[in-house]
Amino acid sequence: MVGAGIVGASCAYALTRAGVRVTVVDRGGVASGTTGAGEGNVLVSDKEPGPELELALRSNTLWRELDAECGGFEWEAKGGLVVAETPEVLDALTAFAASQQGVESAVVDPRDLEPHLAEGLAGGVHYPQDAQVQPMLAAARLLRASGARLVQTAVERFLVSGDRVTGVRTGQGDLYADAVVNAAGTWAGSFAQAPLPIRPRKGFILVTQPFAVPPVRHKVYTAAYVTNVASDAEGLETSGVIESTQAGTVLIGASRQRVGYDTAIDYTVLAKLARQAVGLFPVLADAQVMRAYAGLRPYSPDHLPVIGPDHRLGGLFHACGHEGAGIGLAPATAEMITAQVAGGTPPVDPAPFAPGRFA
Ligand SMILES: Cc1cc2nc3c(=O)[nH]c(=O)nc-3n(C[C@H](O)[C@H](O)[C@H](O)COP(=O)(O)OP(=O)(O)OC[C@H]3O[C@@H](n4cnc5c(N)ncnc54)[C@H](O)[C@@H]3O)c2cc1C
Repeated sequence: MVGAGIVGASCAYALTRAGVRVTVVDRGGVASGTTGAGEGNVLVSDKEPGPELELALRSNTLWRELDAECGGFEWEAKGGLVVAETPEVLDALTAFAASQQGVESAVVDPRDLEPHLAEGLAGGVHYPQDAQVQPMLAAARLLRASGARLVQTAVERFLVSGDRVTGVRTGQGDLYADAVVNAAGTWAGSFAQAPLPIRPRKGFILVTQPFAVPPVRHKVYTAAYVTNVASDAEGLETSGVIESTQAGTVLIGASRQRVGYDTAIDYTVLAKLARQAVGLFPVLADAQVMRAYAGLRPYSPDHLPVIGPDHRLGGLFHACGHEGAGIGLAPATAEMITAQVAGGTPPVDPAPFAPGRFA
């Protein structure tokens, strides 16, 4: 397994449960990539009807099972609330919710669920299946529970014999395996023998100081977030996305821009996110920001993760390109990889996720 983010850790857990012996190799350690910069939402609310929504629904069920099996990662089935500023947006939001087969939703007065929301919103849709985990804890817990061996070193390339991958060359020597899973997140496309069009999509998070009682109960976001997620734009896009954590902090996002691997802080983006958050929750105007950070989402050109066997090299599997949904989608991704590596029925049709679709 290349990568000890949430996807690699979930795959390691599922594979060892299926009786596979797993070694995980990560150059930085557990959750040192994008997983350490994610918010941890397990969402069905923002997924358009189609393969990603099917994967998200399966993952939602699996996260609940994982919490029961080896929890301790701040799982909260808190539900999501999407708010609309105008009646037109509310109509679009309601139609979108009605199109999402298998997703529970209800049109609500948003201030009934979130009393600290600003006045004057046109309405909202409540999604009770949306949930939250602490992604770094989740990756660490799953990896520990898997019993997989963790090796902290960089993978330089895949070892290839004929048309099969037989292992990886690392900074600590060669490691041989019957199967190699590429779960290297935003960097998964950088292995020359298996080029994939995965690119970084940057996002910032602001973290407030802890509240004794956080003013936000659900994951709350504006309808514009759904449009931003589905967009291909390279330039800056922002939308108000706000939630609290069990530690009492409030997390404020979300921005998206494609500016390469640059993770520098941009105060104009942070100010915009803060303004949007205060617009939604005026009570946040008095909150102190404790820290801010950027992460690089693994963007895939068609917005679908890349999951499955490599189309050129036997023994190589990819589990990457989940963009802004890798935390949510990790368990079902792991179930799919396990079915493909060890045998079994995949949770959903694997065809839309096949790596060969970019060839
Ligand atoms: C601001 C922000 C908010 C987000 N919020 C959410 C959210 O609420 N819900 C959600 O579902 N998703 C969210 N995401 C997206 C989510 O964080 C990612 O989709 C997910 O973390 C990807 O996990 P991963 O395991 O594929 O990649 P990573 O966590 O990046 O793991 C890949 C690992 O591979 C290792 N690696 C890379 N190259 C090599 C190499 N050559 N050798 C050895 N190791 C290597 C890296 O060190 C890294 O640890 C958010 C992302 C950002 C940036």
